[in-house]
Amino acid sequence: MIRRRVTHCPKGHEYTKENTYINPGNSGRTCRICNRKRAKQYYYANREKRKAAHREWAKNNRKYYAKRTKKYRKEHPEKCRAAVAHWKRNNPERVNANCAKRRALKLDQISSFTPHEEYKIKRLYEFSQLLGPEWHVDHIIPLDKDGLHHPDNLQIILAEDNLKKNNRLDYKPALFIRIQAAQDTPIGDS
Ligand SMILES: [Zn+2]
Repeated sequence: MIRRRVTHCPKGHEYTKENTYINPGNSGRTCRICNRKRAKQYYYANREKRKAAHREWAKNNRKYYAKRTKKYRKEHPEKCRAAVAHWKRNNPERVNANCAKRRALKLDQISSFTPHEEYKIKRLYEFSQLLGPEWHVDHIIPLDKDGLHHPDNLQIILAEDNLKKNNRLDYKPALFIRIQAAQDTPIGDS
């Protein structure tokens, strides 16, 4: 039986010096082009698995990231400022929510929220964002008048009403969206 010298891999790539990978322990050779292709396929096929593994690792190595982030922030302050500005432009409702929270904290009018209350607040700000810039989240009793930053004291009103209302207690906007105080089942769940 004549054994012809194999010059190409099963896919037809030539076994040149550059394209030939000698397996460990000298146990044959493989095609580098095919190896790369297989590795790439494996890489993409296992993307979710790899991501999950990395998330798990990150969860257990928070200090590593905290340190790295701190270092990066110190070395690239202008990049960080730009990134924050970019995030703020894309998340106006989160910015509004955070501003209101910070203000309430400052005025010491924040209660410790249950997860459900926290959720209600988040959804209200998200809903306002969905309605568009002509709608504002407003504190029914203004924070400056000792109103609480609490879902029961929040409403969505028209921006023009919000301006007219300012810090007045007697201004009653014709149109408002409120979360029912007695609503105890999570919003959006059936
Ligand atoms: Zn090949």
